[in-house]
Amino acid sequence: MENDANTLPHGMNVVYLSIGSNMGNRLAMLQQAVDRIEALGRVVARSPVFETSAWGLEDQPNFLNAAICLHTKLAPLVLLQALQQIEKDLHRTREVHWGPRTIDIDILLYNTYVIETPTLTVPHRHMQDRRFVLVPLAAIAAGVIHPVLQQTVAQLLHTCADEQTVHYFADWQ
Ligand code: ATP
Ligand code: CA
Ligand code: CA
Repeated sequence: MENDANTLPHGMNVVYLSIGSNMGNRLAMLQQAVDRIEALGRVVARSPVFETSAWGLEDQPNFLNAAICLHTKLAPLVLLQALQQIEKDLHRTREVHWGPRTIDIDILLYNTYVIETPTLTVPHRHMQDRRFVLVPLAAIAAGVIHPVLQQTVAQLLHTCADEQTVHYFADWQ
């Protein structure tokens, strides 16, 4: 997917999101999340769905992860709120940090913005450390440049020290 800012309608922003699930019907959760995200703008690209063994806490079900590109007019903090509402609606429960959850939606990149507020850090502070984020993202945005690290997603993936195996799981219906 090309992201030529010149072809974007006025006020439109290019956002990359990471979505993940490791509880319940994981694939259906991702699908429902994307359906709802579509109401926030236009989903212009979605990676295949990948499976990863859980990161952080290892004794839990495998994650399914995907990356999507959303064109939206929502400002960053408004978008974050909308995504958190979607997480709530999909009955995300959370007892343990990095524990199982029905759905997790993170903002990876928002245009080339660097944002540091108490509730939002963009680019996502761990994206370069996680293969389960970079592998899906590279499927739709290999050439996109991380505005702080000044490397493409493909380069970040190439140098990522994470040893998790991330494999193709399914395409969208
Ligand atoms: P991680 O941030 O390591 O992926 P997590 O996704 O499990 O952990 P959550 O409990 O989902 O963490 O989110 C904790 C808080 O992170 C959210 O309430 C939100 O305010 C904040 N946050 C900061 N930056 C971002 C971002 N780029 N995308 C989503 N949430 C963010
Ligand atoms: Ca996360
Ligand atoms: Ca999150």
